[in-house]
Amino acid sequence: MSKSNGINRREFLRLAGLGTAAAVVAGGVAGCSANSDEGTQPGGGIKFTKQTDALIIGTGGAGLWAAYELIKAGVKPLILEKQPSWGGDTILACGVMPIRGTKAQAQQGIQDQSPEQSWQASKDALSKRYRVPELIRLTIVNAVRCVDIWTEEFKVQWTAFDKNAYTKFFHIPAPGMQNDHKLLEPLVNFAKSNGAEFIFETMAISLIVNQKNEVVGVRTQDQVTGKYMDIRAKKILLATGDWVSHQEMVARYLPKWEGLPMTTYTSMGDGVRMAQAIGAAVTRMEEPSNLMSHFAPTVVWGYYNTMIHVLPNAKRVNNENALHEVADKVHEAGYEDWWTICDDELVNGVHANTFKTREKAGGVVKANTIEELAEKTYLPLAQLKATIEKYNTDAKAGKDTEFGKTTAFVALKPPYYAVPSRVVRYKTNGGLSMNDKCQVVDKAGTPIANLYAAGSCQGETTPNVHDVCAIGMHAGQQIAAALGKGKTPT
Ligand SMILES: Cc1cc2nc3c(=O)[nH]c(=O)nc-3n(C[C@H](O)[C@H](O)[C@H](O)COP(=O)(O)OP(=O)(O)OC[C@H]3O[C@@H](n4cnc5c(N)ncnc54)[C@H](O)[C@@H]3O)c2cc1C
Repeated sequence: MSKSNGINRREFLRLAGLGTAAAVVAGGVAGCSANSDEGTQPGGGIKFTKQTDALIIGTGGAGLWAAYELIKAGVKPLILEKQPSWGGDTILACGVMPIRGTKAQAQQGIQDQSPEQSWQASKDALSKRYRVPELIRLTIVNAVRCVDIWTEEFKVQWTAFDKNAYTKFFHIPAPGMQNDHKLLEPLVNFAKSNGAEFIFETMAISLIVNQKNEVVGVRTQDQVTGKYMDIRAKKILLATGDWVSHQEMVARYLPKWEGLPMTTYTSMGDGVRMAQAIGAAVTRMEEPSNLMSHFAPTVVWGYYNTMIHVLPNAKRVNNENALHEVADKVHEAGYEDWWTICDDELVNGVHANTFKTREKAGGVVKANTIEELAEKTYLPLAQLKATIEKYNTDAKAGKDTEFGKTTAFVALKPPYYAVPSRVVRYKTNGGLSMNDKCQVVDKAGTPIANLYAAGSCQGETTPNVHDVCAIGMHAGQQIAAALGKGKTPT
């Protein structure tokens, strides 16, 4: 077997991906076309025209933190993104990262538990819930490291922590929610200025494997010209996000969500489907994550300011402190929308910026009386009155007799504001199975050579922003180590 630039000249390769069945073709090298069946995967015979040590697919938090670690270890990754710009769902997130024991907290005089203490406190419960507890431990440790690097190396500013409040460990990039580009932009700039190559508007559509089912490359398609390009890579990281917007996958795994609208269009399960086509196992696919408001910050406000969520029948929905609960409760009650009723404490408070953004989008109602509020929202007056009066009575007494709310529990005062929300699906829990080195595994638990996953396309850890970043960091370290670079990760 002769070699040219490290590329085997006679090597039988197979494409498997977002097309239908896998196709067997004979692979060529740069400038040589394949010489057999083009199969059912689009793009014809395999022809590698680019090669890299490490290929990262996806530029959300997971992909960008993997890039950071690879670069620090001396590897210059090639980074592929199907969209015209970086960010994925990560850039759409509220950006609230509940993480304990960071330097940012310490700088504001908050002494919190260390990552090790956090892990010890939750270890037993998490070890029962997750298949690879070590990955969960690592997300806790690495999330702190991500925040510390953002703070110290990239000078990210955080909104002030209130040391007396429950939210004293909620890291939100200043000036407030929905500023996640402030987290991602420094990572992109770091990668660009340290030799990483980004290719945008180019979608990975198939993995390329050899006869031993080892991944050796990826077929891509330019989203503007439609042209195909085959990239040879020693290691490939799938950081392609989740599958919440892929209608067929949702219908199959989470049929109760089938009719719900979604808020994102990039999360099509590409990584999961490409890896499944070469035998990768999946995990937790039927485990739903929480549902959400179509304007996500709405559910976070309840941690900071007084407010109530009410159903279209004007009944209160839940404990507003429980941010991941309201949309599910509304859905369970058979409704698709709800109103959030608040007052000037929220409108002029710490989340004034996102309230203004929501107001500009339209539909927010202001009223000086409960009667006016009912008239403008079409909520039934008698029930609305009863709901607000009960909430206010409980708040004044300091005891929520309905839902046990403890934080931001203050009587509502006029003028009232009502913010409409729609129930949406916005993220999934399930995804690829992998081992503690982020190697994608098959149904027997055996790693598929050269294939890694991180972020919300894998189902071993949670799809929260800080967790995808933390696991991306781990994947980057593991790939670097597998390439013989960097120090051996712990
Ligand atoms: C509206 C909204 C609000 C959210 N709010 C929160 C929140 O407040 N807190 C929280 O913890 N989580 C939140 N989430 C969830 C969280 O943001 C995501 O789970 C997480 O950011 C996913 O990160 P990721 O890096 O895995 O994927 P993403 O950030 O989605 O990045 C994946 C990238 O891969 C690209 N890609 C996909 N397939 C291909 C392909 N075939 N070829 C090339 N590129 C590809 C995509 O275009 C995308 O850029 C929110 C999600 C949404 C949609």
